[in-house]
Amino acid sequence: MTSRVGRDLLERARAVMPGGVSSPVRAFGSVGLDPRFAIRGEGARLHDASGRAYLDYVLSWGPLILGHAHPAVVEAIQRAARDGTSFGVTTEREVALAEHVVARVPGVEMLRFVNSGTEATMSAIRLARAATGRERIVKFDGCYHGHADSFLVTAGSGVATLGLPDSPGVPRAASALTLSLPYNDLDAVDVAFDRYGDEIAAVIVEPVVGNAGLIPPVDGFLEGLRERSTRTGALLVFDEVMTGFRVARGGAQERYGVTPDLTTLGKVLGGGLPVAAYGGPRELMERVAPAGPVYQAGTLSGNPLGMAAGLAQLEELDRTDPFDDLERRAATLVRGILAAAEARGIPMCGSAVGSMWGVYFAPGPVRSFADAKASDTARFRRYYAACLEGGVFFAPSPFEAGFLSTAHTDGDIAETVRVVEAALDASLEGMSI
Ligand SMILES: *Cc1c(COP(=O)(O)O)cnc(C)c1O
Repeated sequence: MTSRVGRDLLERARAVMPGGVSSPVRAFGSVGLDPRFAIRGEGARLHDASGRAYLDYVLSWGPLILGHAHPAVVEAIQRAARDGTSFGVTTEREVALAEHVVARVPGVEMLRFVNSGTEATMSAIRLARAATGRERIVKFDGCYHGHADSFLVTAGSGVATLGLPDSPGVPRAASALTLSLPYNDLDAVDVAFDRYGDEIAAVIVEPVVGNAGLIPPVDGFLEGLRERSTRTGALLVFDEVMTGFRVARGGAQERYGVTPDLTTLGKVLGGGLPVAAYGGPRELMERVAPAGPVYQAGTLSGNPLGMAAGLAQLEELDRTDPFDDLERRAATLVRGILAAAEARGIPMCGSAVGSMWGVYFAPGPVRSFADAKASDTARFRRYYAACLEGGVFFAPSPFEAGFLSTAHTDGDIAETVRVVEAALDASLEGMSI
């Protein structure tokens, strides 16, 4: 960010927006760099205001599974826009996208569209509380479920990056109803259920954690949550805002064969526009207004441009069925990075689940947020800066998953591994200073 254009923009942005950004991690604070300004994206590449192009593994934090500006998505948005940008009444596109989701996500018979993952999880929890007549919720350390008050308790991602265990402004009364437990630890779940069993409305979980780096569920963890929720009468909520249409067509619930009571979706669902949803069995969803008494609404919900973008992206996924290919390339990338680290004697571990992937500067295995936080974040900063300099854009935080799109070629992966090798060398030099 040395260009004149970039500096002027940065000053203007910081004058009128907190940190110069609309969402905290975009400020690049935890890697000690300045925010980037995007000019345009094309396939696997993001172009910034200083005229540089980067191989992009952030992909708008997950939505762009087809890469930037995929023609099918762009054309669908253009076509929809010509008919009007918002109506405030239902459209056929909404029905079609809902049908598409219902046909592919095992736990969803009916859904409600909202505008962000935050709204989806917030509304799912309201519904769970209404359906059970209970108030407590169980979440897991390092899982991020958006920024609603009840969830800002040991949340991963931006909150972790900023080192805030919580946020000022969250009433104690809201966070007191949230129990946050170590991920992948069923014993901790048993203790919580023994103590509070008949007060727990919902257990909400990222079935694959992508907001504390990438942490896959250990064998039996999701099944264990299912069994305990059913036994105690709590609802199991899979927050698939990140994993939906990403780790498999039908999300983590299809991949792991565990069906939750409620599902939240977002990111890939909207094709890069602000679209999210929560859904579940008819019997639960018909408690939502106006079919039932649980209130939830939205002026722009089901927005026709968002519906068009989402439908175009999901239909393209159906047409091309890229999931195996994406998974193979993500695994190749992680293998390449880990091999480069091993050759240099740098302790590193990592994994890929579908086209979500992540690495840590830690010997591993990383099974919990505590493990993730024990990784070498100082080395991550040196490595990160060198990767960016080398033209590779990873998430500017050690606690974010990486993504892959269908636009990333084998050649792009190989180029990325070469940049990583140089960055690891640079991280070693940093050590000796
Ligand atoms: C991104 C994310 C959210 C929040 O979605 P927003 O659209 O940013 O509000 C919630 N849950 C998970 C798992 C996410 O990855």
